[in-house]
Amino acid sequence: MSLRIHFLSSAVGVCAGMLVMAAVAPHGLSKAYAADASAQSQPEPLPLPPSVPIPQDVPYGGTISLKVDATDLPRHILSMQETIPLPANVVEKGGNFTLLYPMWLPGNHSPTGTIDQLGGLKIQAGGKQISWVRDTVSVSAFHVQVPKGTHQLEVSYQLLTPVSPKEGRVVMTDVMVNVQWSAVSLYPAGYFTRQIQFKPQVVFPAGWSYGTALRADGAQSGNTVTFKPVSFNVLEDSPIFSGKYFRKFDLTQDDKVPVTLNVMADRPEDLAATDEQIKAHRELVHQANLLFGSHHYDHYDFLLALTDKLGGIGLEHHQSSENSGPRGYFTHWDKTFAARDLLAHEFTHSWNGKYRRPADLWAANFNTPQRGSGLWVYEGQTQYWGYVLAARAGLMTAPQVEDALAEVAAVYDGRQGRTWRPLIDTTNDPIISQRAPQSWRSWSRSEDYYSEGQLIWLDVDTLIRKLSDNKKSLNNFASTFFGTHNGSFVTSTYQFDDVVQALNAVQPYDWATFLHQRVYDIRDHAPLDGFTRTGTRLVFTEKPSDYITSYSTLRHVTDFLFSLGFSVGKKGVLAEVLWGSPAWQAGVTRDQELVAVNGQAYDADDLKDVITAAKSKDGAPISLLLRDGDSFHTVSITYHGGLRYPHLDGKMDGLAAILAPVGGQPSAADHKE
Ligand SMILES: [Zn+2]
Repeated sequence: MSLRIHFLSSAVGVCAGMLVMAAVAPHGLSKAYAADASAQSQPEPLPLPPSVPIPQDVPYGGTISLKVDATDLPRHILSMQETIPLPANVVEKGGNFTLLYPMWLPGNHSPTGTIDQLGGLKIQAGGKQISWVRDTVSVSAFHVQVPKGTHQLEVSYQLLTPVSPKEGRVVMTDVMVNVQWSAVSLYPAGYFTRQIQFKPQVVFPAGWSYGTALRADGAQSGNTVTFKPVSFNVLEDSPIFSGKYFRKFDLTQDDKVPVTLNVMADRPEDLAATDEQIKAHRELVHQANLLFGSHHYDHYDFLLALTDKLGGIGLEHHQSSENSGPRGYFTHWDKTFAARDLLAHEFTHSWNGKYRRPADLWAANFNTPQRGSGLWVYEGQTQYWGYVLAARAGLMTAPQVEDALAEVAAVYDGRQGRTWRPLIDTTNDPIISQRAPQSWRSWSRSEDYYSEGQLIWLDVDTLIRKLSDNKKSLNNFASTFFGTHNGSFVTSTYQFDDVVQALNAVQPYDWATFLHQRVYDIRDHAPLDGFTRTGTRLVFTEKPSDYITSYSTLRHVTDFLFSLGFSVGKKGVLAEVLWGSPAWQAGVTRDQELVAVNGQAYDADDLKDVITAAKSKDGAPISLLLRDGDSFHTVSITYHGGLRYPHLDGKMDGLAAILAPVGGQPSAADHKE
């Protein structure tokens, strides 16, 4: 490194010296240099092109028709036909009209629109082709010069969706399609998207079923379904799951507000749900309605894909959610429980995230930047309720959730990145890294506001219970903060002080300082007071919890994170190496292949035996043969700590009380404001 810096500074020195010589030389070749240099002006920036029209809160005249053909399964192509009526001033005078492809997608908290997949764009008016020009700054904006007297544009284009995971998230397989309207629509710039009306239509593969929060407008015509007109906000928020193998389960409560579990699967036998399993999903709706004392939907559709072919997803919406689970979600119920907080998490978002939203995360359209400073509430508290509601509903047992909490506590307390980066800074991660793989995630930190946020809210919940002598809890915060305007799904924004105020209304305390310390300050340890306050503590034993076993099976990894400091994925490839761990000290990195341990081909169970044998003080160092591309090298790790897996120990009744079902009748209110 130092050699390179030396070389660079020498080179700069030579060039500067020549310029100085040239400037002072009285004649000859150097003079010519001097004349050239003085004649040449420095570059200046060109002005940027005019900005795309700013969204205004005024109605867009007319309804846009949008038809999606979802039948080209072999080529994974979605084809769109869109008819856009033009505003009166454009009809009268003609001129520039700008169409936008959505980029800032709610729930992703980042500009993740799939503009790279848009193809075949053609724009016509009255049967004549009109040329378009892409904005060179906002590359998701298309400018069209509309001739005077044009009443509407006929726009056609395709979404060239990934044919394999190498190109991105797969949304079409031979038995499933996931239509996300944000990916298959163009909309006029210059308007709040709640002010633009769409009439959507979809052509499905023959004989397939579908689930969505949209409602059909009239009878299905062949394989074509026309949906009732909705605002663009509602359309973008109402994706579709369509599949060859599909079942619907009714989760409606006594209040008669329709709630449906729509499940599609790679194979028909994966849909074999038992009555007990569906009962737990119905109880999820019941427990959530009791917790929040309200709901913010007219009807709700869980969309669930049980698949290893369609790209994974967990995405919240007001009146639906997109979820994916393992093929054994129902058929290997006891082994796949580690994935069963997902529906509870996404359902919670209907209250926390969709209805109540951090003010800087709300935007007027889908091409305006969002900021994530409130994600420790939006995602952190949702992560908390996701596990709590999963336990209350019986989707997971209380001990399974306690084991999950132990894992979270161990991972985040050991997160080395917390020594340089406050939690609040990780709320920028959706924009910074957009979930790209990281070499050193435990040092970089990555969206830690989810799980560390979960620990903060356990901390808050247990403190409210203690201060109020168990008369109040975070349940009260949930019903007051998220339960306003029952029945409405008009987004209600908030800021830090609103959260503090709502907590104080439940239980007076210096919540501003409490939250500030945990969210904004650098702290050596994760907030684990939620455990100690209930008489529980984090311990490590040599046996993995059932949760870690389930989690590892689902993710195809073997966990040595808290012993040698890595996890091993498929084919022996290291999935993660923890910063500061024994493996890190030895220079091991992720994506290396673990070929052999102590001279024997790598086997997960053998490595466990080796780690256990190395426990004795005179135990020999552990030798790992690693392959890194075409290079092989051996590292030696001196480690006597044995196998280590996180668990909770001590009194469990405090946590059990939080995780126990809440009694009472389902919320009956369906009043819309
Ligand atoms: Zn979430």
